[in-house]
Amino acid sequence: MEIQIKDLNKNYFSEGKTITALSNVNLTIPPNKIFTLLGPSGCGKTTLLRCIVGLEMPDSGEIRIGEEIVWSKDREIFIPPERRGLSMVFQTYAIWPHMDVFDNVAFPLQVRNEPKEEIRKKVEKTLRFVQLEGFENRPATKLSGGQQQRVALARALAPEPKVILFDEPLSNLDAKLREETRKELRSFLSKLKITAVYVTHDRIEALSLSDTIAVMKDGRIMEIGTPKEIYFDSEQQFVVDFVGRTNLIEGTIVSIENDGPRIKTPIGEMACQKQMAPPIGSPVMVSVRPEFITVKIEKEEKGRNTFRGKVESLVFIGEAYEGEMRVGETRLITKIAPTFNLKEGDEVALQIDPKGCTLIRQ
Ligand code: ADP
Ligand code: MG
Repeated sequence: MEIQIKDLNKNYFSEGKTITALSNVNLTIPPNKIFTLLGPSGCGKTTLLRCIVGLEMPDSGEIRIGEEIVWSKDREIFIPPERRGLSMVFQTYAIWPHMDVFDNVAFPLQVRNEPKEEIRKKVEKTLRFVQLEGFENRPATKLSGGQQQRVALARALAPEPKVILFDEPLSNLDAKLREETRKELRSFLSKLKITAVYVTHDRIEALSLSDTIAVMKDGRIMEIGTPKEIYFDSEQQFVVDFVGRTNLIEGTIVSIENDGPRIKTPIGEMACQKQMAPPIGSPVMVSVRPEFITVKIEKEEKGRNTFRGKVESLVFIGEAYEGEMRVGETRLITKIAPTFNLKEGDEVALQIDPKGCTLIRQ
């Protein structure tokens, strides 16, 4: 089911102040894919989700789910949440502790007065799907965090919704379990052929789980794209910074060659092999993610985009060293294999992949 959002606005009024939660949001959420709203806390993700579900009333705009307009200010349409064919999974799971697994999952079906036998079949099918077969009579409190999360998912899926919405569903799990559950969720959702709208402030969750990501800031949609497009090709400083670590180097376009622009920067002239460049003379910010910088133990600088530097600091983070390198007055963050024998103060050559340089217009 496709979801279309047109010119959505929402303000809250609190203690005499107006808080803009959504500002002119326009979105088309494609059917049967995982669509993620990614942005910092307070940017309006939950508000947008609640407007889609019908738990929050926008001030203006229109929301269409499939062929049906479920909210329109101008046409005075409001379809209540229970008639929108959606299910939502919350951060707190909101599963009922006094009920066993079966009753938790059966609840939304019982509310709809479905026949008992029908309910039993649907619950069993859903529990099999989330791999909780045999847990029917287990009290909800006697489940691990990951299992509770799967009960919440099963309860959302049992009524066979057209759309499933998730509001930071993994944020209560510890790091290792969060990673496992994330993979599980991805595999469940890709088997389902259902439209999933997923809200998170966690870039790794968004990058690994989504087919499409919309990055939000201050109630606005900043950019929409596949995880790779968002990570590698964004030309907006906020987006580039929010979806991963990066080095930002100020510069000016000095020439445009066949393979891309050359940029004068404090570390020297850099070649960028990526995209259409702004005209010569334009001030830009070159963004280079740490993984595009190769560190070599060489005193002489050799080849294009190679700069001499010095190891300023090294931090061991398990799978790699995070190395801060100094080139003149500029500090660059790099990622170095943990087996690479390097120490602070060493002189190095830093080779920057021209394909890994993105230009941000100033
Ligand atoms: P997110 O989910 O991205 O963290 P929210 O949608 O919860 O963001 O909030 C967006 C903005 O609206 C924030 O500034 C928040 O403080 C404000 N807000 C959310 N709900 C209410 C409310 N019921 N009353 C007043 N302000 C609210
Ligand atoms: Mg929220």
